[in-house]
Amino acid sequence: MTSPTYKDIISNEIIDIAKIKKAEKIIADLQAEMRDFIAEGAGPFVAAIYDENDKLVAKASNSVINETCSHNHAEMNAIKEVERLYNTYDLSSFNLSLYITAEPCMMCIGGILWSGIKNVYYGIPSKTVEKITGFDEGFKPDWLNEFKKRGITVYGNIAPEAGEKAMQEYIKNGNKVYKPSR
Ligand SMILES: [Zn+2]
Repeated sequence: MTSPTYKDIISNEIIDIAKIKKAEKIIADLQAEMRDFIAEGAGPFVAAIYDENDKLVAKASNSVINETCSHNHAEMNAIKEVERLYNTYDLSSFNLSLYITAEPCMMCIGGILWSGIKNVYYGIPSKTVEKITGFDEGFKPDWLNEFKKRGITVYGNIAPEAGEKAMQEYIKNGNKVYKPSR
């Protein structure tokens, strides 16, 4: 990998290199682990939630196909798991960080807001996912600014090479691109 300059990082705060470095490692690992989830029939996105001491709390993949539920995106599955573990529907007092292999869709943007997650780090942007795979990620509100207003930090386009490779592999291996007719 070429040495990153972080000029392509997307963020809603003044860039903190230490946060990006930490996120690069976590997200690149999630992109690599995706293969195992796909082998089990899961979808090609993985999310992990860490607490403020950098301890992993939950990790989940997209399970729309294998669990037959259109809501089962990786982010939603990870949030559900943490809320069960912490026994609360309001995670806002825990200063949790959500790491995702790709930009959240419109449903997950809402889901993150409702959960009280405080920090979001994502790999490849939706437009890259759509270009490679044909998934339709839906329209987006101006979510980075809306999150900023609510005190939620966002960093995106983290470890993009690993993300693009994972998506290309998903398609090359003939996996399903699911979406309803629109
Ligand atoms: Zn989603």
